Amino acid sequence: MKPSTSSLPQQQLNDLSKISFQKSKLKNAGQCQRRECNNKTQTQTINFKLKYEYYCSEDCYWKDIEQLTTTKAVLLDKNDMDYDRVAKPFKEKLPKSKIRAILRLQMPHSISKAHRECKQKNDYKATHKMYHGTSILCNAANFLKGKQDCTIENCGMCGITAQGNQSSFSHYGTKMWFAKNPQTSLSYCSGKSKFKAMFAVDVIARDDNEILIVTKNELTLPRYLIIFTRTKWDRYLTCWC
Ligand SMILES: [Zn+2]
Ligand SMILES: [Zn+2]
Repeated sequence: MKPSTSSLPQQQLNDLSKISFQKSKLKNAGQCQRRECNNKTQTQTINFKLKYEYYCSEDCYWKDIEQLTTTKAVLLDKNDMDYDRVAKPFKEKLPKSKIRAILRLQMPHSISKAHRECKQKNDYKATHKMYHGTSILCNAANFLKGKQDCTIENCGMCGITAQGNQSSFSHYGTKMWFAKNPQTSLSYCSGKSKFKAMFAVDVIARDDNEILIVTKNELTLPRYLIIFTRTKWDRYLTCWC
């Protein structure tokens, strides 16, 4: 199906195509991936495989973001230590779903900066690791091949990857919903694609609830995108949500 683009403002078209995509099969695993840094990163050999951190420190992770005007999406290699960090809690709650890809997202500097500044304010005490299920309206296989040219207006996967969670795109007024349990978010993973998209998002909030509802964009920062397929058992779980 050809996406309809006529109703889209030009600005949004540009934004959606602005995702820089990288595979993380590294030739130099064990070296910090920030270009200006020569430090070694933490590594671990498990079953003869070298597991590695992508950056030497959290500092390098954020410094790299300072250069970004578009989202940097890295398709994680299973030996990148972030892969297990994201996959394990997800699989614990949704053991029968099959993870097809995990992308580490580093949002553009303007988005990340607003979030970090918000975090430093005293009103908001804690950052919560939450999930956000959304729609895939384009061809997810193309997306994973690095062709992020989706121009479908309400495609949640591409819209959030490029611009973060935006309350103006919410289907629930200006409210954005995040769940601690991915089983809850599963019912929001819509679209006809057999692939489903769920974001792991940092959400700043005073409360520590199973569900967090926020209206300000800067309270949220997408960190990873999980693309997965579902089994019958998953669908059964959805009925209970
Ligand atoms: Zn470094
Ligand atoms: Zn899309």
